[in-house]
Amino acid sequence: MPPERLVDVALPAPLFRRYTYAVPAGLDARVVAGTRVVVPLGGRRVVGIVVGDADPAREPPKGLRAIAAAPDEAPAFDATLLALGEWIADYYAVPLGLVLRAMLPAALGSADAPAPAARTTAVLALARPLETLLERERAFARSPKQRGAYELLESLGGRAPAAHLREQLGVTKAVLDGLVAKGFARWEHDVAMRDPFASRRVPPAAPHVPTPDQAAAIAALREAPPGHAVLVYGITGSGKTLVYLEFLREVVEGRGRGAIVLVPEIALTPQTVDRFRAVFGDRVAVLHSGLSDGERLDAWRALAAGERRIAVGPRSAVFAPIRDLGAIVVDEEHEQTYKQHETPRYHARDVAVVRARLAGAVCVLGSATPSLESWVNAEQGKYARLSLPARAGAGTLPAVEVVDLTRVPPSPDPLRRVLSPPLEEALAETLARGDQAILLLNRRGFAAFIQCPSCGDVATCPQCAISLTLHRGPDRLLCHYCQHVEPPRAACARCGGTTLARRGIGTQQLEQLLAERFPRARLARMDVDTTAGKWAHAEILDRVARREVDLLFGTQMIAKGLDFPDVTLVGVVDADTGINLPDFRASERCFQLLAQVAGRAGRGAKGGRVIIQTRSPGHHAVRCAVTHDYHAFVTEELAGRRFPAYPPEVRLANVVLSALSEAGAHALAEAAAAWLRDAVGRLGDAGMTVLGPAPCPVERIQARWRWHVLVKSREAGPLSRLARGFAARFPVPPRDGARAVFDRDPSSLL
Ligand code: ADP
Ligand code: ZN
Repeated sequence: MPPERLVDVALPAPLFRRYTYAVPAGLDARVVAGTRVVVPLGGRRVVGIVVGDADPAREPPKGLRAIAAAPDEAPAFDATLLALGEWIADYYAVPLGLVLRAMLPAALGSADAPAPAARTTAVLALARPLETLLERERAFARSPKQRGAYELLESLGGRAPAAHLREQLGVTKAVLDGLVAKGFARWEHDVAMRDPFASRRVPPAAPHVPTPDQAAAIAALREAPPGHAVLVYGITGSGKTLVYLEFLREVVEGRGRGAIVLVPEIALTPQTVDRFRAVFGDRVAVLHSGLSDGERLDAWRALAAGERRIAVGPRSAVFAPIRDLGAIVVDEEHEQTYKQHETPRYHARDVAVVRARLAGAVCVLGSATPSLESWVNAEQGKYARLSLPARAGAGTLPAVEVVDLTRVPPSPDPLRRVLSPPLEEALAETLARGDQAILLLNRRGFAAFIQCPSCGDVATCPQCAISLTLHRGPDRLLCHYCQHVEPPRAACARCGGTTLARRGIGTQQLEQLLAERFPRARLARMDVDTTAGKWAHAEILDRVARREVDLLFGTQMIAKGLDFPDVTLVGVVDADTGINLPDFRASERCFQLLAQVAGRAGRGAKGGRVIIQTRSPGHHAVRCAVTHDYHAFVTEELAGRRFPAYPPEVRLANVVLSALSEAGAHALAEAAAAWLRDAVGRLGDAGMTVLGPAPCPVERIQARWRWHVLVKSREAGPLSRLARGFAARFPVPPRDGARAVFDRDPSSLL
């Protein structure tokens, strides 16, 4: 008897180990690296992924058990995706099984509920031709209905969904079954993709002739060596989408390979998604957050089978099972939505670069305001760089004016607290001309917080160290971190004072003020509260595109990627929101937001202007946005990240320690800092420093107290080893809700 075959399986358990199982003879052919298997673990059955054959030199484990099932016909992971999973597990210090589970659609992760079968449509296909009239009369002598069905099928090219035939002819399924029984037709089953995005009307693709800059960029991308990354730095409105589309046309049609397009958020970028669907039609699978588990699985299967060749989606689409991948496009690569905020805490842009390298694909990173990390990588020659320095169509970059709010005299008029006279006048003129305007106020709700004027107390969330925001309709105080809600307070919780002041105007209040000031303008507010439904964003944006909205206003979600030629004015109510947050990325975010929202103006022949209201006109984030000067911003910001050192000057990890008690969080943080210092000391001079512990800037979220320790490192490699050691060995006590999170390349330190 041949020796039993053993394989290593990665299981979704929080342990850094592989599990070994025996392969039953019947499953031998099917069980290869990347295969999804159901295995016993303790008293449960779990889904794992076969990593490879076990090392024959190793002693088989005691109590060896066998794989229970291998439900799929083909492996869920090809060699490249498996290697990508291993890279993520190593870099972010997460057990491989947890990484691989996160890379698959949720429906494939459960052992008990079998994955929902793909929904199929019954299709009838002609099986035997009836050439002569005589044959036909004989065959259907007593069944004119069958003859009708046969002839309709013929006229439809020999193949049609059963539902369509029945509807056209008003016949029952028995009639069609009769055709099959006589051998004239046969049943086939098409996998139906359940894709609600498919019902969106796609405008025809604008057949633009590329500008010389675009043509040069397209040519350079075609020449890009496989496995490499290219930063496409193109100003707002420079026509980056056309460059992506033409390059992908070459990849998909010219080279017959597949592609992935990552966008920050599908809901916010329906225009971009529409452009891809307009060119590639049903070769595209849109992986948006509105899909049910079953729909997501259908899309995954269609991509894995090669029925769809292009995946468009948010960060998790970087794992789409495209065979023979030729390109990955990361649109708006600077967006922080590419970073995942739960285990595995990967950054999809960085994963895209690695996947492209492993797959021999070209990775295209596009932005008008590239992240400092990508910019420096291009400067150092790790990425190639292309520039699109001018607007593509009729538009030009808009003139930007600054209103220094410290010089606007105070006024009792609440409207004045939001719109300075220059911005109000510009809005009035724009609306009077019949053009459209966009107004950014990056604060939702009615009032930012409630304060007692006598003692200064601010109403805060009982669970989080965050002030509560006043919302209207119905009136309530809401925590934006944990969704805690309470009725508005009648009196100050500290001194009992009864005249509470509302501070800081939010989008709800702005709506009221705008409606009073511009009663005839058609307003649309876009923020988290007006976009609860799956398609709410797209509906608002479609209304703007159809010119049913004169003034679109809202939070940062209106700043991204929108392309409306009739928008001739963009106003920023308060450029300083967020500029002073204790986070090394605060200035970068502020600059990106201002540059992006300013880029929404002047996209048509009419040109446009931008008015930015600020209390810090001298801040480099504001100054450089005003002059559209990305280079100046980068130079100044990079200098600021040298002392104290922050990315991209160094590699960074934010180690967050939390517990239900304040003392518990503090003690855990002290222990973690000591552990990390000790480990760094043992590594010798690895160019690493450990800072802290200190309370997190937001000290408490959802009833957990939070402390953190920062680790800075000159090199990536030693930080990987430290991360792995910490994740595997730092002891977290099993009480007080204690938790340790090693967040590598954090997007924020709050
Ligand atoms: P970006 O993403 O770089 O901000 P878009 O790709 O949205 O810019 O393009 C901006 C606008 O310019 C779009 O309306 C697009 O249709 C138009 N456009 C792009 N390329 C051309 C071209 N070669 N000729 C004319 N218009 C173009
Ligand atoms: Zn809260």
